[in-house]
Amino acid sequence: MTITYQFACTHCGQINIYQALQNGEEACCVRCSSVLYRQRKYMFDASLALIFTGLILFVMTNAFPLIALKAQGVTQELTIWKATAAFWEQDYYWLSVLLALNLIIFPLFELLGLLWVLLTIRLAWQPPWAIKIFRWLSEVKPWGMLEVFMLGLLVAVVKLGDIAVLVVGSAFWAFIFLVLSMAALGAHLDRFTVWRALTACPSA
Ligand SMILES: [Zn+2]
Repeated sequence: MTITYQFACTHCGQINIYQALQNGEEACCVRCSSVLYRQRKYMFDASLALIFTGLILFVMTNAFPLIALKAQGVTQELTIWKATAAFWEQDYYWLSVLLALNLIIFPLFELLGLLWVLLTIRLAWQPPWAIKIFRWLSEVKPWGMLEVFMLGLLVAVVKLGDIAVLVVGSAFWAFIFLVLSMAALGAHLDRFTVWRALTACPSA
């Protein structure tokens, strides 16, 4: 059965008809010329590599100290979990919850969710769960603020350097590369191609 896809341009609302592309080509809206979807070579395999990289960096970010402060002979190490717990203990409950959501739960859900979606496509699994997860990921995405936290962390490192000896931990670099790898993943993975591939999976 041949399926004809029609979809609205997210920029101008023009209805476009899907056409198959060759590797390296991109389809543009007939009205506003914005890019609708791309056909990238090895897109799914490269995205899977970025997801595994992201998962390793995520574990490192959570397992090791972000920074350590040395003042008056005392060294204090700060991990993401310690920072979250410290805010909670000082009655900043919302801040603590926001920190946990943005630094632990959202990134992990995005990485594991996309892993499930891409494995479903590559291994031709039944797609109902992958479809649900990919839709949830689209809904959760605007609430993820990993990049904002990265900027806050950089500012804090510069400011804290004035009042104490500051040692940047391995989790700090892991976190920077985690943000970069997730940004690369978001830029590389074409959502329309994923939806089309999920539709082509064997139905339940
Ligand atoms: Zn358009």
